[in-house]
Order: sequence, then C-alpha cells, then structure tokens
Amino acid sequence: MSEQVDLLISARWVVPVDAADSTLEHHSVAIRDGRIVDVVPTNTAHERYRATTETRLPDHVLIPGLINLHTHAAMTLMRGIADDLPLMTWLQTAIWPTEAKHVSPAFVRDGTLLAAAEMLRGGITTCNDMYFYPDAAADAFNTLGMRCVIGITTIDFPTTYAASADEYLSKGLAARDAWRGNPLVHFTLAPHAPYTVSDATFSRIVSLSNELDLPIHIHIHETTQEIADSLKQYGERPLERLARLGVVDSQLIGVHAVHLTAGEIQTLARHGCALAHCPTSNMKLASGIAPIADVLKHNIPVGLGTDGAASNNRLDIFQEMRMAALLAKVGTQDAAVIPAKTALRMATQHGACALGLEHAIGSIETGKWADLCAVDLSPFETQPCFDPVSHLVYCAGREHVSDVWIAGQACVSKKQVLQKADNELLGVARVWQNKLSSRID
Ligand SMILES: [Zn+2]
Repeated sequence: MSEQVDLLISARWVVPVDAADSTLEHHSVAIRDGRIVDVVPTNTAHERYRATTETRLPDHVLIPGLINLHTHAAMTLMRGIADDLPLMTWLQTAIWPTEAKHVSPAFVRDGTLLAAAEMLRGGITTCNDMYFYPDAAADAFNTLGMRCVIGITTIDFPTTYAASADEYLSKGLAARDAWRGNPLVHFTLAPHAPYTVSDATFSRIVSLSNELDLPIHIHIHETTQEIADSLKQYGERPLERLARLGVVDSQLIGVHAVHLTAGEIQTLARHGCALAHCPTSNMKLASGIAPIADVLKHNIPVGLGTDGAASNNRLDIFQEMRMAALLAKVGTQDAAVIPAKTALRMATQHGACALGLEHAIGSIETGKWADLCAVDLSPFETQPCFDPVSHLVYCAGREHVSDVWIAGQACVSKKQVLQKADNELLGVARVWQNKLSSRID
C-alpha cells in the first residue's frame, strides 16, 4: 500500500546538508502538509508514495532553500544611489539623507517586495531583515510567500519612523503581535549597532530577549573606526561593552564581526553566539576580511548575509557563498579553508542555527519544512559535472535556479516568481526611480 503525499520531487542530485555531508543521486523528496516526509531513492519512491503533484528535475541539484542571514530588504530602492565610499561617509552623505526624505510604509513595502522577488528567484527562502516599518516589510514578504525574520529595529536617534528607543520597541512589538500565528513570519530584536544604541536601551533589549525568547540581531565590529570610537567614548571595545550589558549570549547574531581578537572569538564561542558574514559588503565598503576560518574552528555558527542592496549591490547568496570561500583563502593564504561544502552549509544550516530555527529549516531532513531550491545544471557552462556541490559554489549562479518551494508551496517555477508578475514588479521600481531621482543632481 502506497502512502498519499502532496508533492514528490525527484532530482538527479539531492544535497540535504545533513550531518554526513551526503550527495544523493537519483533521490526523491516526499512532502505532505508543507513538511518533508521522506527522502528516498527515486526507484523506490513510487512504490512507497502516491503524489498529488510530481516534479521531475532530471539535470538538477535540489538543496535546502538558502538563508540570507543579514539584509535591509527595502534598500533595494537605493541600489546604486552612491557607491565607492567608506561606510560612515556613505551613511552620512547618501543613505541617511535619502532615508530621512523618503522612508515610509509605502517605501518599505515596495522596496521589500522587490527584494523578496529578487531573493526568491535566487533560491533564498528565508531572510533575516533589519529595517524600519516592520509591519510593511512583513506584509511584502507575506505577499510572495517568503519566510522572513523581521527585525524590531532600534536606534537611539529619531527618524521619520520613530522618535525614541521606546517608540521603536513598542512599534516593533506591536507588529510582532499582529503577525503572531503566521508560520512564515518570525521576529528578532534588532538594535542597529553599538554606536547608535545607548547602554540603557541595550539593557531593555536584553530583558525583552530573555522574556520573549527573541534573538538579538546587531552589526558589530564592522570597521576599525567603530572600535576606535568606542574605546574613546566608553573606554572599551564594542564587544566588551556588549558583554558587560549582557548582549553577548546564545541569542546574539553578530553581523560582520570583521575585526575580532583571538580572545573575542573565544568569548563568542563560550557564550554560544552566532555570526552573519557578509563578504561582498565587507569588500565593497573596504571594511576588511573577517577571520571566518578561525571562527568556524571554534564551532560558532556563521551564516551568510548580503547586507542591503545599497552596499552589495546584489541580494545573491550564491555570490556570498563564492566570496566567503574565496575571501577566506585570500585572508589566510590557505586554499583549503572554507571548502565548497562548508560554504553551502553556512548558507543553509548555519543560518538556520543562528536564527534558532535549526529544528525547522536549513536542511532536507524528515520533519522539517519543505523549503527547497532546485538548480539546473544542464547548461553547457555547468557541464560536465563531477561534484554538484563544487558547481553550486564555484560555477553556478542564481541564474541557474529553476524552482523554489517554501513550506511545500511553489514560489518560483521555470525561473519565474509566481505570486507577482515581472511587469508589476517593474512598475513598482519605476515609481520609486522617479521619486528618488529628484535627489540625484
Ligand atoms: Zn547591515
């Protein structure tokens, strides 16, 4: 007697990113009620399962949906508005003035919609976002059926969104309440950075994190300037200050962490912290090379992030996998560090672990949500193929993503985003091109 399932996906290769680092040939993934029921050889799948829908991927590798562990999704609307500047100059002369003039719920909804469409088509099924107007961001992700982790962004200076740290927190928590019960929408506390958040606000955030079991998503040690300024203002390095305030614990997702001492790496490991590595953003803003090979030796989960589209400028985790592998080799002069399988694990399982979602996503294993990405390796530029994991990191790109599912629902099919037509998305981009062009002289 065969068992009924909703969907059976049969692929040339399945790379589940499991403990054994398996690469399975000619395997099928059975899905029911949005979750993975089984991963079996295709030649036995039909004896065991009757599927309502069956998808055959004869030249494809099926991998867990990619996780973008750090982005500012709505910043797609500011992509290319200013490039080739150091971080503080870029923020102060280009980004912050544009945000002051334009950021609104409509800006966030539209910018996030474009970001979500770009990410989905590139095989990203979950993103950890940090921006303003969390309700508008959640709404945009939800429109496309994408899994999202929305930051309750907090800064100790006023913006058009909120006037005080209290207002940032209360608005963010209200958004969290409004989306409670939606299995695709999660939240973090997101104090922007040590240099924009006061001690008192950090203390409040630590209490909320403990009380509500929420991760803390924060930029840390991005530049040497940030560390020098903190030493001048507080007499301690940012991580020392955060440790004193109780922020350095198992809920911490530290973003960038480019400049770390050996002692700081040990501290992060001891407290069970996670990091988000954004190699392209670090290179573009000339922030430096994060010591990720060392960090990984300490068993610290390190997911990959794109950062915002204004500092990357692609929301492309295939690119980040490749850059993470290459930059680590350059930084250490050791070609063996961050091999392809590690880069893929960072982009999937480590990201899930950092978010506290390792039980739910990040690998193709029974019981997890069916968040899946199919990559078509049939084109001549990806043939011959001796090792699909090598191709995923060093050869293929997001343009080879053919199909994407989130909780078993098709979100991308034949390279097309299903929930929003391309011409609608282009229309959204055109509206903001006109509005923002008024600032570019
Ligand atoms: Zn960032």
